[in-house]
Amino acid sequence: CGIVGYIGHREAYPIVMEGLKRLEYRGYDSAGIALYDGTDIKLSKTKGKVADLEERVKEEITTEGTIGIGHTRWATHGVPNDVNSHPHYSNSGDLVIIHNGIIENYDSIKTELIKRGYVFKSDTDTEVLINLIEEVKKKQNVKLGKAVQLALNEVVGAYAIAVFDKNKPNEIVVAKLGSPLAIGIGDDEFFIASDASPFIEYTKNAIYLEDEEMAIVRRDKKIKIRKIKDDSEVNPSMQELKF
Ligand code: GLU
Repeated sequence: CGIVGYIGHREAYPIVMEGLKRLEYRGYDSAGIALYDGTDIKLSKTKGKVADLEERVKEEITTEGTIGIGHTRWATHGVPNDVNSHPHYSNSGDLVIIHNGIIENYDSIKTELIKRGYVFKSDTDTEVLINLIEEVKKKQNVKLGKAVQLALNEVVGAYAIAVFDKNKPNEIVVAKLGSPLAIGIGDDEFFIASDASPFIEYTKNAIYLEDEEMAIVRRDKKIKIRKIKDDSEVNPSMQELKF
């Protein structure tokens, strides 16, 4: 399984798609991608190989956009099928997530969210997490980064996630516990991936998030890293990639 993301000034699609191919060695049963083209989120996903995803993208969506996230899934909750593949939308359709890992207490959170009117299309733990983020964001009237942080403090499990909001398409929020997450730092652009292989030709500067850290990557801004538990700021420790 793997995650890839891009935000910057280039076309995201080729970077994300090529990145997914480079992460294929990690094993997976499904693949998907979401792009933001300046107006809307475009999403395509399928059970099967990254090559199958490429075919489906040609039939389903246009590929312009300078923000994109991509996922290869190794199913833990819900069988491998198109609906359970990532990315997953929140109920409003505003938020979109990719996730590697497991949300262990998803069941009790799901029950609570259903009571509050949320509807679930997939059987995944991941769709529970994105709707928990949406619920926290609305109820507490906080920004996306804060909502992700508060939601993650309610979950038990493991994750590498990337989330964005179509109403705030200048940032991607990422977080890590257990699953790996590397961030490539370019010139007013950021690359996100399970390892550095998707972005080595674009930048040699990388930050590997530690467990229980989250980051907000924004175009034209410095990366901000925080500890999920106590909100303390973390000084980014940049590494120079040697290969
Ligand atoms: N638990 C999630 C799912 O089953 C993510 C699996 C993964 O790591 O790819 O959809």
